Amino acid sequence: MSETQTKKSDYLIEHADYTHWDINSGDASVYARRIPGRFRNIKWAIMATLLIPFFILPYFTWNGRQAIYFDIPARKFYLFDITIWPQDLLILALLMLFAFILLFSMTAIAGRIFCGTMCPQTMWTDLMTLTERWAEGSARQRIKLDAMPWNAEKIRKKAFKHLMWIFICTVTSVTFLGYFSGIDNAWSKLFTLDYNVYEWVSFGFVFFLFYINTGFVREQICNWVCPYARIQAVMTDKDTVTTTYNYHRGEPRGRVKKGQDNSDKGDCVDCNLCVSVCPTGVDIREGSQIGCINCGICIDACDDIMTKVGREKGLIRFMSYHELENNLEAGKRFLRPRPMIYMLATTITFVGIMYTLFFKTDLDMNVNHERSPTYTVMSDRSIQNMYHAIILNKTEAAADFTLKATGIDGITTNYDNKVLKLTSGQAKKIDLLIKVPQKNLSSGRQPITLKLESLGNPELSKTYESMFFGPGN
Ligand code: SF4
Ligand code: SF4
Repeated sequence: MSETQTKKSDYLIEHADYTHWDINSGDASVYARRIPGRFRNIKWAIMATLLIPFFILPYFTWNGRQAIYFDIPARKFYLFDITIWPQDLLILALLMLFAFILLFSMTAIAGRIFCGTMCPQTMWTDLMTLTERWAEGSARQRIKLDAMPWNAEKIRKKAFKHLMWIFICTVTSVTFLGYFSGIDNAWSKLFTLDYNVYEWVSFGFVFFLFYINTGFVREQICNWVCPYARIQAVMTDKDTVTTTYNYHRGEPRGRVKKGQDNSDKGDCVDCNLCVSVCPTGVDIREGSQIGCINCGICIDACDDIMTKVGREKGLIRFMSYHELENNLEAGKRFLRPRPMIYMLATTITFVGIMYTLFFKTDLDMNVNHERSPTYTVMSDRSIQNMYHAIILNKTEAAADFTLKATGIDGITTNYDNKVLKLTSGQAKKIDLLIKVPQKNLSSGRQPITLKLESLGNPELSKTYESMFFGPGN
């Protein structure tokens, strides 16, 4: 066996399962270098796509009110033209289901890609570290600054950084609060210090959550606190794509020496750049690790080095355990049963949400037939059935309604000549007595239709199909 092969097999024995718990336990601060590159640009693009709408959407108005607004006291959620009421539980359940299945799909395909690109912890940490860099300089300058004794320069730089962090966390907290108590209200009451106790608690909670988590604790949240990191193992398989160091190519690693024969070395020049750019302090060459959030920044770093030393890019790249172990090129990453099932479920849930949102009515009616007794024979030889109905006005204004039953000749109800008055959001429970002349009943069970209709707006109506029971012929 050649020396090169011996070193490579040593590496394989040492990294037999290629999965290590190599985590910074918080004893050392991570001073990640920031370098430009493809994955850094992707991260910025995703951040802009998610954060710009988060910060500006509360300022949009629609029909004279805030376009997106969670009105907790009135228990309503406004989404542009759509109002979601507590009774629209199906939409909320579908939204949660959609979010979970989407996360499962992403994890099955590409591991912790959500963590590395769109998790709020990651995005706000990126904002905080960006401003930290403006205030304190590069990673090397920050290490020097932290090591030096307190002096005017250190106080000035640290104060500037914390002022920017306070600004970011204040805007974040006010924006968050703005979704629940109105953005104008959230800003004006902040300046007059006029928040009520709930608003102060919400503001303080969000402010310190972001200030501490993304300013100080950072990657330790990803390593130790986040439950998603713990459960992702059950969502991945050997074909899940993660950021991976190709040890077949890279080992035995070693510095390249000019004018010398480097043919006994692998492609890794042991420059450590992949480690120094990692926001969670991981050395990806040690194998797949729980601390890796799949952000791809080390791929940018290594590709840059490979280009400089004239070697093929991709020593670190997104690949699966299956591809790595068999030294394969990228395989069919999406056309596998698990991601396909997840993607199908995601699509079905999404279609369900869209259907429920766009075919949602402003009027609700639920009717239950009284079973004890099913029917009553009246003295005038008519048959009476009792129904318990709940009607709900989900419009923004009070309205008057009529309730009619059709489907059998001579059908009448105790609400035939009554007007039902419902204020906005009001639900009313009514006992509905429906009578039919016995001679008009052709069987013991006949379909009927109940129609609730607005007096001023016939387009605002709701029909309900039910059954009328009698003794039969
Ligand atoms: S190892 Fe690479 S992909 Fe993983 S967190 Fe560090 S920089 Fe990101
Ligand atoms: S950046 Fe690439 S070449 Fe440099 S140490 Fe990491 S894997 Fe090796």
